[in-house]
Amino acid sequence: MRKAVPNPNLKLAVPAHEITIGKFLTQSGTFKDGDLLVNKDGLRIVSQNEEEEPPLIKPSDNQLTLADIDMVKVIGKGSGGIVQLVRHKWTGQFFALKVIQLNIEESMRKQIAQELKINLSTQCPYVVVCYQSFYDNGVISIVLEYMDGGSLADFLKKVKTIPEPYLAAICKQVLIGLMHLHHEKRIIHRDLKPSNILINHRGEVKISDFGVSAIIQSSSGLRDTFTGTCNYMSPERIIGGRHGYLSDIWSLGLAMLECATGQFPYPPRDSFYELLEAVVEQPPPRAPPDHFSEEFCSFISACVQKKAEDRKSAQVLLEHPFLSMYDDLHIDLASYFTTAGSPLATF
Ligand code: ATP
Ligand code: MG
Repeated sequence: MRKAVPNPNLKLAVPAHEITIGKFLTQSGTFKDGDLLVNKDGLRIVSQNEEEEPPLIKPSDNQLTLADIDMVKVIGKGSGGIVQLVRHKWTGQFFALKVIQLNIEESMRKQIAQELKINLSTQCPYVVVCYQSFYDNGVISIVLEYMDGGSLADFLKKVKTIPEPYLAAICKQVLIGLMHLHHEKRIIHRDLKPSNILINHRGEVKISDFGVSAIIQSSSGLRDTFTGTCNYMSPERIIGGRHGYLSDIWSLGLAMLECATGQFPYPPRDSFYELLEAVVEQPPPRAPPDHFSEEFCSFISACVQKKAEDRKSAQVLLEHPFLSMYDDLHIDLASYFTTAGSPLATF
């Protein structure tokens, strides 16, 4: 049976002072008596077997509205809009609300709505959950699972580089997420990069923003504006050719190499176009063998091959020796993320 829906619009059928309350007071200042639960936000009906604290919202609940959430603070800015930390009024649950301001044509709106639907139906522990999305008057709002460690790009700013054993543990999770998108959902991410790989205090690593940001970028002409962000696009995408799942593997290779060395793998260029030209024309970047294990160098070169057909799939890469070579160390990403300077916002 579906749990009770927290509804701030639910009006008291009888004045609050007439309700006999007295069973108990929970830590959050909530009175509960049988099926009635009262707190500062009003009254709601709960099911008999419900715990004293409100149930957490599940992605399948389809019960979130913008009126149900309070804005806490802005946690990030991307090229398309802002990301806010928000809190659900009834359950206290945190979410990230991505707000994208866009004046788009009807056809684009439909395409984005379609992509968001795919997002909503994707439930994998290695992919950021998209709970709900709204479109109103040129503004797209997406309620996402809140990842309290921020992105790998944020984390990298603090730690500068990520040592191989941690990177192997991170990469394993990203690959499982990619395998889910590629093999089960048949989705190409199209915008895999450190800022779209999110982490939390439990040591979980999840992929976010698949499909949506790429569509928005290509539709709004943002791709043609040099924003200073590095580009993780594969050579075949740059030249406008056919691209598939293996395009994401190129991006993964660049992202992992950047995490290991602390630098975007291509040297800075004067313009965005020169960078794109270098990706297409120069030999692919490699991990320097004097600084990294043979396994890591081999992993990077299995990803960063200019011809897509020379790259390995996510499934094959999961068997790569780099991913298991540090297994004996029993790497604890939870403590690494929380103690290595991650800007964790809340616990
Ligand atoms: P771009 O717009 O160029 O793709 P981006 O990926 O950084 O860049 P956003 O996706 O808008 O842009 O995210 C901005 C920042 O917000 C991220 O770098 C991250 O710090 C934070 N962020 C995004 N989604 C979440 C989330 N679900 N939980 C916690 N923080 C998030
Ligand atoms: Mg993003």
